[in-house]
Amino acid sequence: MNKIVESYKQKLASEDGWVLKRGAQLRIALCYPNVYSIGMANLGFQAMYELFNNIPEVSCERVFLPDSPRGSSPSVSEGVVSTSALPDGRATDSRHRRKRSLPYGRASATEFSRNSSGYDALPSDHPTRATRAGNPVGRATAPIDEMREYERLGSPLLSLESQTPVRDFDVIAFSISFETDYVHMTRMLHMSGLPLWSKDRTERDPLIVMGGAASFLNPEPIAEFTDVIGVGEGEILGPKLVDAILETESKDELLLRLARDGRGFYVPSFYFVSYSDDGTVSAYTPTEEGVPARVGRAISAENPKEGSLRRAIRREQTEIIAQLKRDEVFAPSTSIFAPQAEMGDRFLVEISRGCSQGCRFCWAGYNYWPPRVVPARDILAKAKAWRVKTDKIGLVSTAVCDHPEISEILQGLRAMDYRISVSSLRLDQISDELLDALVESKDQQIAVAPETGSDRLRRVINKNLTNDEIVDICGAVFDRGMLTIKLYLMVGLPTETDEDLQEMIKLVERIKDRMLEAGKRFGRAGKIIPSLNGFVPKPNTPFQWEALCEEKELKRRLKWVCKNLARIPNVEVRAMSARIAHEQALFSSGDRRIAPVIEAMARLKGDLKAALRETGLDPSFHTSRARSHDEILPWEIVDAGLGRPFMEREHGRAHEAQSTAPCPSVNQCTRCGVCPTTWLAEAPPALIQLKAFATSATTTSANA
Ligand code: SF4
Repeated sequence: MNKIVESYKQKLASEDGWVLKRGAQLRIALCYPNVYSIGMANLGFQAMYELFNNIPEVSCERVFLPDSPRGSSPSVSEGVVSTSALPDGRATDSRHRRKRSLPYGRASATEFSRNSSGYDALPSDHPTRATRAGNPVGRATAPIDEMREYERLGSPLLSLESQTPVRDFDVIAFSISFETDYVHMTRMLHMSGLPLWSKDRTERDPLIVMGGAASFLNPEPIAEFTDVIGVGEGEILGPKLVDAILETESKDELLLRLARDGRGFYVPSFYFVSYSDDGTVSAYTPTEEGVPARVGRAISAENPKEGSLRRAIRREQTEIIAQLKRDEVFAPSTSIFAPQAEMGDRFLVEISRGCSQGCRFCWAGYNYWPPRVVPARDILAKAKAWRVKTDKIGLVSTAVCDHPEISEILQGLRAMDYRISVSSLRLDQISDELLDALVESKDQQIAVAPETGSDRLRRVINKNLTNDEIVDICGAVFDRGMLTIKLYLMVGLPTETDEDLQEMIKLVERIKDRMLEAGKRFGRAGKIIPSLNGFVPKPNTPFQWEALCEEKELKRRLKWVCKNLARIPNVEVRAMSARIAHEQALFSSGDRRIAPVIEAMARLKGDLKAALRETGLDPSFHTSRARSHDEILPWEIVDAGLGRPFMEREHGRAHEAQSTAPCPSVNQCTRCGVCPTTWLAEAPPALIQLKAFATSATTTSANA
């Protein structure tokens, strides 16, 4: 145990900004289902840590999948997109001693420690302080294989800050961004010594909560492991969850209260799922009175809508601008400076959420509609406070240049001498100003996403750019001396033909030629790095009904593209395997019958094939089958607000290669259904679309 504790202390010693409260009324273990370096690069995870710890009654500590240099983590980790304290001496069998009375009625004074962040300094005898003194930041000793130590000792999983067994917390909350981390999540629950299936846990066990994008996109594969699933955005759900916990007397009362809310909290145990003879879902039946047929997505209504703010700025409507920016909004951002993490030496801040474009494959666009922004004022205030710690800033957004105040943000950050990087660049929106800022910062390799090689297929996916425009935009990057560029491309898109793939090769060649032409002026050549991914249909997108390209065929296409790209000089191709695409599709589109596969994978060190053999599940039913518009989709237990008619129409337009105008993100729009139905998190019930489903019957009908 000492080696694990020592390793955790080294991590804490290298950080700045973590929090520890002793004697808090409610203890939350916030778990990231992957290793520390990846988890700490996740903004959603850091934001929840800050949000929970901002609540006086709550002490929130972090928990990660233990590090393992030998890679003992389940092999699914290779599918993860990499792009995002006080040992209190409690005995490890304390689960049997602790009372489940908490959080109900246990009151005690909270002691607050926070390193270098303005709260009380750590006590002088604090073990972490001692470690910090002994191991100055940046001179940590060699990392240990934490996983091996846990396995060797059979010890329970510990929190980072106080090294308390996770099972001793009141709430275990997972933040899950990628479906491929489900296996890690399962493993962490197992390491905590808790029953995996919610039906096997008791009142005395901690409440198990899942949140994060993956869990509300399609919660069904992990539904039976979970007590509550957060459906929507954390800044709305976190405080609401804490209030409910503090105001109820028992777990049963709490679950019922959350489930009856109808928005934001899905309690899987209150729904019975039935299946038709053909294996498709036939109904979700609530088992308790007052539990709605579907659970609405909770979204933050405080942030100004992107289109409304842009329009007001263009028209110079100062009063409307002031009204839109009236409240200071919560901007998810780095709260802990953690140089050992990926991108840990930079301040990350979310500047906007959701993308207006409506690319038909993109879950991040649709599931955060309407696009909303954090006002420049709030971003710059946070950046100013962090400037003393770092000169690197990362702007996180699905479409950085769509921010109506991007110019003000860039100017403000450059005035503070920040080196700027961005999470993604939408090709049609790259501005000269942003390119100049990126060149100046010398901190970023440019990555752009043509997605595919033919103009026709780009219309199918609703990415409305031509190859000529893409070459011109890449040229603007090369002309600034940035001669290496990464291209995100997909293989296996709906309606794709071999001719489309041939066009992809030609497009990369044209971009390479343009790079060499620019390179002559700089006396050097760069590199084109195509990154190939298999297309995976995602829930709550117009492609949700599509089949994933069959594994053998996807392999053939990927191999053909790789071979032909590899022949081009100055091109360095990277590709995802067809197997990973199928694994992702199984987890993202499956129903509750996937859970035993996840459980088996965790036991079998991530071996999907062995898990499928053991469980007898046919994955192709969930991955390689086109779904009919009449089918109830497993993820429709969540009402994301996107109306069925809109999604079906978009699906149809895709097959006709017809493009659709972007989401205007203005208050009066009713096009897709999100704004009139879910825009206000606290909207009166009459405004909520799910009412139509709830009144029809106790079961969910996909066509309601
Ligand atoms: S209703 Fe209109 S503005 Fe709102 S998310 Fe849908 S398309 Fe965008």
